[in-house]
Amino acid sequence: MSLRGKVALVTGSTSGIGLGIARSLAAAGADIMLNGFGDTGQIEAMRAGLEKDHGVKVGHDGADIGKPDQIAAMVAATHQAMGSLDILVNNAGIQFTANIEDFPSERWDQIIAINLSGVFFGMKAAIPGMQAKGWGRIINIASAHGLVASPQKVAYVAAKHGVVGMTKVAAIELANAGVTVNAICPGWVLTPLVEKQLHDRATRHGSAIDTESHAVLAEKQPMTRFSTPEQIGALAVFLCSDAASTMTGAPLSIDGGWVAQ
Ligand code: NAD
Repeated sequence: MSLRGKVALVTGSTSGIGLGIARSLAAAGADIMLNGFGDTGQIEAMRAGLEKDHGVKVGHDGADIGKPDQIAAMVAATHQAMGSLDILVNNAGIQFTANIEDFPSERWDQIIAINLSGVFFGMKAAIPGMQAKGWGRIINIASAHGLVASPQKVAYVAAKHGVVGMTKVAAIELANAGVTVNAICPGWVLTPLVEKQLHDRATRHGSAIDTESHAVLAEKQPMTRFSTPEQIGALAVFLCSDAASTMTGAPLSIDGGWVAQ
């Protein structure tokens, strides 16, 4: 399947799952607008590497997904630089863990702004262009935590449940516009976001990272192995295919059996 001629914007694609999705979409032929933070030199190397490896056009926009005006400006800049915006992957996300009574209010606001409102403002900015073309794909990266809860993750779980809900609303609103909207709900994927949680646990328990890796997997997933960013990327490519053109409004688990329990 070829996505040649399509333009994809992947938020939070300078690392982890977003980068895996950007790579997979580029390998399928889509031009890519990367987004996310990081070292300027490393981001440029990533951008140029994707262009060279896949023969597609790749840009980078440093918009802060916690800032609605920057999201709108990034969508406009994507249309201007790449000529279109056909595929939007709302992936940028952060985590913070604490019990509700100890959860800092500013962390709540930050997670809701990036993980929840950022998805709304991304869709709001991108939908008119997709409607005008009569074709579009919106893929929201939710989580197993969009379907079930864990303690100490109140803001994250609230945001991800919200992402699953707004995915359904958008899917219904766009059902006959040629635009599908789905949510991917990964279980554990080994990325810098999870590596930090493993490191924090290892420090807290005075244990090794390997021990904590096995423990976090065994706590939640019947299948005690991590999914990879490449596997999430392959699912995103499938959602952009004709085979998936009637799949919409679906929360798609890729989680080693986490929510089957
Ligand atoms: P990561 O920390 O490796 O990458 C996060 C990306 O988002 C980076 O590119 C970072 O620069 C970017 N980012 C962070 N804040 C931003 C902001 N304000 N504006 C723009 N970009 C910003 O994380 P990851 O594990 O790849 O997570 C990506 C998504 O997948 C998140 O939405 C996360 O909730 C979700 N997810 C991750 C897992 C997992 O196990 N890793 C599981 C389920 C869902």
